[in-house]
Amino acid sequence: MSDHLILIPVFNEAATLDRIVSGVRRHGTVLVVDDGSTDRSAAVAGAAGADVLRLDRRRGKGEALRRGARDALARGVDRVVTLDGDGQHDPDDIPRLLKAAAETPDALVIGCRLGADGARVMPSGRLAALRVAGFFINWLTGASIADTQSGFRVYPAGLLRAVTPRRGGFVLETEMLIRAAAAGWRLVEVPITTIHVRGRQSRFRPARDGIAVGVYLAGHILRRWGREMLTVAAALLRPFSAERRRPRHRAQAAFAASYRGNPAAWAVATGVFTLNCVVETWRGWWRDPRARCLRMVGTATVAAPLLLPLALAHALRARRGPYSAAAVEAAPDSGSDRLTAFVGRVYCQQGLAPLLPDARAARGRPAARPRPADYDVLVVGGGPGGATAATLLARGELSVAVVEREAFPRFHVGESLLPANLPLLGRLGVLDRIRQQGFITKYGASFHDQESELEYTFYFREGRPWPHYSFEVPRAEFDQILLDHARQQRGVTLLQPALVEEVRFDPDGVDARVSAGGATRDIRARFLVDASGRDAFLASRQGRRRPVPGLGKVAIFAHFRGARRWPGRDEGNIRIFIFEDGWFWWIPFAGDVTSVGCVLHARTVRGREGPLPELFDAMIGRCRRVSEGLEQAERITPIHTAANFSYQVEPVVGDRFLCVGDAVAFVDPIFSSGVYVAMQSAELAAAEIVRAFREDRFESARFAGYERRFRTGTNPFFRFIRHYYEPAFLEVFLRPRNVAGILDTITGVLAGGAFVRIPLRMRLSLEAFFAIVRINRWRRRRRGRPVESRLEW
Ligand SMILES: Cc1cc2nc3c(=O)[nH]c(=O)nc-3n(C[C@H](O)[C@H](O)[C@H](O)COP(=O)(O)OP(=O)(O)OC[C@H]3O[C@@H](n4cnc5c(N)ncnc54)[C@H](O)[C@@H]3O)c2cc1C
Repeated sequence: MSDHLILIPVFNEAATLDRIVSGVRRHGTVLVVDDGSTDRSAAVAGAAGADVLRLDRRRGKGEALRRGARDALARGVDRVVTLDGDGQHDPDDIPRLLKAAAETPDALVIGCRLGADGARVMPSGRLAALRVAGFFINWLTGASIADTQSGFRVYPAGLLRAVTPRRGGFVLETEMLIRAAAAGWRLVEVPITTIHVRGRQSRFRPARDGIAVGVYLAGHILRRWGREMLTVAAALLRPFSAERRRPRHRAQAAFAASYRGNPAAWAVATGVFTLNCVVETWRGWWRDPRARCLRMVGTATVAAPLLLPLALAHALRARRGPYSAAAVEAAPDSGSDRLTAFVGRVYCQQGLAPLLPDARAARGRPAARPRPADYDVLVVGGGPGGATAATLLARGELSVAVVEREAFPRFHVGESLLPANLPLLGRLGVLDRIRQQGFITKYGASFHDQESELEYTFYFREGRPWPHYSFEVPRAEFDQILLDHARQQRGVTLLQPALVEEVRFDPDGVDARVSAGGATRDIRARFLVDASGRDAFLASRQGRRRPVPGLGKVAIFAHFRGARRWPGRDEGNIRIFIFEDGWFWWIPFAGDVTSVGCVLHARTVRGREGPLPELFDAMIGRCRRVSEGLEQAERITPIHTAANFSYQVEPVVGDRFLCVGDAVAFVDPIFSSGVYVAMQSAELAAAEIVRAFREDRFESARFAGYERRFRTGTNPFFRFIRHYYEPAFLEVFLRPRNVAGILDTITGVLAGGAFVRIPLRMRLSLEAFFAIVRINRWRRRRRGRPVESRLEW
């Protein structure tokens, strides 16, 4: 079997096809895809010795190439050579193109018609349009290709597997260049000979095809331009960010403090300080390598909008002059292309490349042909996020491997569920099993502030899309039920205990090294879901796990037997006891066991010496409600700790992966949102992944919507958490009035009801609530009462 196939998509080329196929057959097996010709193209090709694939009607070059590529991949070839059926390509160039392809296996090889006499292969107007379009394509791909529209190419099989053409017509060539480069493939040009076929008119329709290419490019250009603008804006705005501004303001206040009695001197001191800051910030700025990149981004910001109309003008000029040998010979030489050269000089893309995220991601990807995948999806972690994702992916008919490090049942923090979790458990088909387990029912959340003695219980409301109750669950039992349920789905393989040690992505999928029982094995999947919880597996190895400023808190927790119980339906409520050094959670389980834990401000922990367990006892002693409640209790588990658990990761999605649950972010456990967010994000993620498999599209942009939904879903929680540590917020929160639906909205958010959809009424009530908090802060400040947020402690 040959290692390549020569693919010729044709439409009504009966006149030239016999000569082309005879010439091409000398260099390998030929597959002619007849795009619904109305002449004898298929018969001529077959008679000349080509394999023929006939499309029932004219479907366009894109579909012809797609079908041909599919056929070629099924034959197991390593490379597919494409050339046009109009006879303009010389078959004897094929060996040179194949040689270049063998030397650069990670490249798409393009036959370039624009040699030293480049100006003579097409009319000058069209050549100019090609060069302007070429500038943008090169800008987008980071390559330097002269003949971006050449159809004479060698595609590696791996590239065709990873990048299926979606466009047709003359956009196809452009699309394949941009998407191949984005998937990490190199673009290499090899000069070829162009044959002018006398009397033959080009199929290129300048207005229709030119505009189609222009529109396709414009979308990409605007996206890149927008991204570069954001890069510039982020760099310019950094000095004004809160993390830089706050210390600067503090230093400024300290610097001018001694002149406070004299307004003129104070103003001068403040002015001098500010000027000095500006000088320090910008000193030597232009020598910074980043500044060069920023200058180029600035140039592009000017260049792109200027060049787009120019490209259009060139395309319209190209309308004159049909593409025929006579026209080419008659056309005046287009002369040197000053425009592209000028922009190339002022806007050097190589310099900019390191700044751009997808250029960074594309570099260094291995191009060797990967082995077939063992599973469609590999899920790292079998907690609530991983188990939910695996169950729903298997329902979408994907094969899934879940790798979980720990043997279950195992202790885990995070035991209070939200009501919105229950419909989700129902959709998973595990709600009845959860009910049978006999977990205690939670009807509400009670808050008590030791300093102000304010106390309030939020009871979940009836008549909502979620029930008016939830459960308090020992996670050892709950996680075991979810993972068992996932394992029972057809198509799910559970590896447990097993550790994912390392992963490596390529354009076709991901290879993972998994160790279990002292042995190591490689697993290959087409997609990866990171559900590794606070380990944030991918971000800690290939991205960033950024702590959330001001939330460097520490949690200390354990289970107790014989702790106080509240009577009646209040027994199962989660209780939050706020005291000076932080707050305690009090989560009762069915039977006689209660989970008690405290979240401490970082400065409380920093100021202490000695082991954390001792600190736990000391904190219990400082919180009256907790020490009274634990008077008769005995601790039945070791004391566990979690420190610096507030973070966000980057990236959340990427080519062939996405993260769910705690592997994306965790901020604060105050509103018991963690398990629900993990499971809900896994449900959203599974739906996106199943769709991605149907469309065979796995690039990171495909999953941007998921990341957006995660962020908007968690926003209401984060907003409450940020304000929760302010006394002005607590005062309003613990004395809620049911005006403008505020009480309803707070309980809705606390129930998890704002994640998937936040109705306008709820949004407005939330704004009303936070307006009241702002007014209260202002009143407290006027009365000289503290307003400082404990978030920063
Ligand atoms: C102090 C504190 C209190 C909390 N209280 C609550 C609460 O009351 N209610 C609530 O809903 N949430 C709470 N949470 C949050 C909750 O614990 C998490 O949000 C939730 O467990 C996230 O689920 P997950 O599936 O994303 O991650 P996890 O439940 O952490 O599961 C991740 C799994 O991945 C496995 N894993 C990790 N790395 C690998 C690897 N390389 N290979 C194989 N397996 C791996 C781990 O063993 C683990 O089992 C609390 C969190 C903290 C810190």
